[in-house]
Amino acid sequence: MSVFVTVLSLSSLATILAALVSLADYHLNDYGVCTININGGTRTVDVNGGSSILSSLAKHKIFIPSACGGKATCGLCKVTMVDTISPVLPTEEPYLTAKEIEGGVRLACQVKVKRDLEILIPGEFLTVSQYQAKVEKITKLTYDIKKFRLRLLDPAQMEFKAGQYVQVDSKLYGAVREEVSRAYSISSAPSDRKAIELVVRLVPGGICTTFLHEHVKVGDKLTLAGPFGEFYLREGADHLIFIAGGSGLAPIRPMILDILKRKLDKKMTFFFGAVSRKDLFYVDYFRDLEARYPNFTYIPALSGAKPEDEWDGEEGLITEVVARNISDPEGKQAYLCGSPGMIDAALGTLREIGIGAEHIYYDKF
Ligand SMILES: Cc1cc2nc3c(=O)[nH]c(=O)nc-3n(C[C@H](O)[C@H](O)[C@H](O)COP(=O)(O)OP(=O)(O)OC[C@H]3O[C@@H](n4cnc5c(N)ncnc54)[C@H](O)[C@@H]3O)c2cc1C
Repeated sequence: MSVFVTVLSLSSLATILAALVSLADYHLNDYGVCTININGGTRTVDVNGGSSILSSLAKHKIFIPSACGGKATCGLCKVTMVDTISPVLPTEEPYLTAKEIEGGVRLACQVKVKRDLEILIPGEFLTVSQYQAKVEKITKLTYDIKKFRLRLLDPAQMEFKAGQYVQVDSKLYGAVREEVSRAYSISSAPSDRKAIELVVRLVPGGICTTFLHEHVKVGDKLTLAGPFGEFYLREGADHLIFIAGGSGLAPIRPMILDILKRKLDKKMTFFFGAVSRKDLFYVDYFRDLEARYPNFTYIPALSGAKPEDEWDGEEGLITEVVARNISDPEGKQAYLCGSPGMIDAALGTLREIGIGAEHIYYDKF
């Protein structure tokens, strides 16, 4: 017990010292105006030195994706430094591979701007905008999942690819004195550019999901940025396998709608895994699509069906259900979205079926 208390005290002390050093650095050192050169001069911005690359760029409306709001807990805000500036910090190490470190990749939330910098970022980040949106409708989908329909106000339209996500800013509420920015997949079809839908699962104690589920009302205004992400449809397959669980359905629905809308000659099979009937949503919606489109098959499955669920559909873990229904890897691509555990298990199943990693795309959350 005393060892535990000592370790806890030492790590708290280290955190406090790091915060003090950072605070002192910010107030005592004047780095003046520094220039950040982006993508070989495609854009250059002058910033006041001392803040992170992430927040310095955000002040210039250049939004690097970050699901944790700069706390080095999501690892999303990767940028490539053209020059070596300082050693990689222990806070960055868990999110960077040896190859990335060698290639100059850093987390934009951890690197402070202390002199002129040259960085490389995906070109699409330069086209990301910040939006003001109005909450138009809130729909309860399950006991812990709600759908939010947001009307875009300024700018009034967003172009995005099915599967991409936006970053939503929370506001202060109750005892929560922290504003955070979290990623949510756009769950509506890209053909509707004036409004977007988000499907959000309440994480107990979660800052942004509690804000959205319990404090946001119809008519409220929200700030968001986007679109972001590499999870979108690729060319080249004639049978697409979609696998999702829970709120992982969010980016899959627009992908299916996009293919149907564009009348692409592709077969689609959508596996949706849930524990019991109370975790299922959009069942009638996808059954209706299945009835109307012969190229679309919907396979919901329950892993813990109870007698009162009166379930006569597929049963078992979604990976077992996929393995029972798909055997031939030829001409197939797979798109997966759900919890890290579900995605890792599904990757194993798809590998056993013989679908190559180059034909598999996923978002884990
Ligand atoms: C690219 C991307 C797309 C995403 N799309 C969606 C989406 O469409 N719908 C959706 O609901 N979420 C989505 N997420 C997850 C979302 O960004 C948040 O992480 C999640 O909503 C929790 O935020 P929070 O502020 O409420 O919780 P936090 O305050 O960040 O976390 C509170 C606690 O819960 C834990 N926690 C955080 N996230 C989860 C989780 N998902 N499950 C269990 N525990 C968790 C944390 O470790 C922490 O201990 C996406 C994430 C990414 C990276």
